[in-house]
Amino acid sequence: MSNRSEAAQEKGAAIVSDSTSSKTQDSLESPGAISSDNVPLNISEHPEPHHHTCQYLDPDGKTHACSGAAGESGFCFWHDENQPKDHEDIKEQLEAYAKQGGQLRGIIVKRADLKDVNLVRHGPGGGYDLSYANFYRSNMTNAHLFNAKFDNGSLMKADLHDANIHCASFINCNLLGVKLTDTKIDNIKIGTLLQQESEGRVAERKGDLEKALDLYEQSEEIYRDLRKASEAQGIFTMAGYFLQKELTMRRFQMPMFSTQRAMSKTVDLFCGYGESPIRVIFFSLALILWCAIIYFYMGIQFAGETVAYSAQQTFADNFWAFSDCLYYSVVTFTTLGYGDFIPIGMSRLIAATEAFTGSFTIALFVVVFVKKMTR
Ligand SMILES: [Zn+2]
Repeated sequence: MSNRSEAAQEKGAAIVSDSTSSKTQDSLESPGAISSDNVPLNISEHPEPHHHTCQYLDPDGKTHACSGAAGESGFCFWHDENQPKDHEDIKEQLEAYAKQGGQLRGIIVKRADLKDVNLVRHGPGGGYDLSYANFYRSNMTNAHLFNAKFDNGSLMKADLHDANIHCASFINCNLLGVKLTDTKIDNIKIGTLLQQESEGRVAERKGDLEKALDLYEQSEEIYRDLRKASEAQGIFTMAGYFLQKELTMRRFQMPMFSTQRAMSKTVDLFCGYGESPIRVIFFSLALILWCAIIYFYMGIQFAGETVAYSAQQTFADNFWAFSDCLYYSVVTFTTLGYGDFIPIGMSRLIAATEAFTGSFTIALFVVVFVKKMTR
């Protein structure tokens, strides 16, 4: 009975993951947007609103206040969510605002035509700081955004076709649905976790599995777009990293304790989804050492005498016995099998398993290594 209910649970979980996969990207409407809840400014009390400065509150503190003149909403033009940014000269306006030293953090420039916009600041201090800025659905085709900082902001569905985002930073930025065709993306910083990825982890911890699956699916999609963009640019180290993350996100959507998920995890540990030859080496070394320890306790035979750990032996004797076992383990792993040492008892089972895994692992290493090297 318990078997059947377990199977039913697993089936249920599979259905949940299927239904979420059909959700569209619109389910996450620009979370980088600044909330306007904390701005209860009543203009009737302020007959001269232009004497007031913008009420923009930076999440990182008052050092990033905005000195722009506030309109009726209490915000300057750039920080006012309700000011439309769809007029023709918005690009020139933004460039001029940036050049004057206006507060670029947290600006809201949704659905704007920013084709060819130049937001590159040279000299000390680095590029422009556009943290918390929202460029939802903006057209940033051919934009120059070298070294700019978009941390914690949103570029959701923005069009970065042909843009140069070389060295730009997108840590915790919403990159869902961003178009990256022919975008120069070398050396971009996206942090260890995407915004959706960290939110997904929080949701999973709280037990909201449906939300977590949706967020992991969005993360998978973002990593796929980033991988394709880096492949198109010929940056294969980055593409390899994004592929690894993409497949990890896919794994997170699989039902917990399923064979599929266990297999995926094994492949990741073994070789980082075929992207990490170093993992194959670490795995091999760990296996060799682990088997040597087993032989040391189970015993192997050399010229009719048993070589194994014994409390009666001196430390030096035990040390030499262990080094013999380590040697035997290497010879077995590489399927060399000189035959000077022979396994006895349970050691034979371990030796057979090690030889089988060893030949497989060496072949795997060659595949992963060559794949990396021939790019
Ligand atoms: Zn402002």
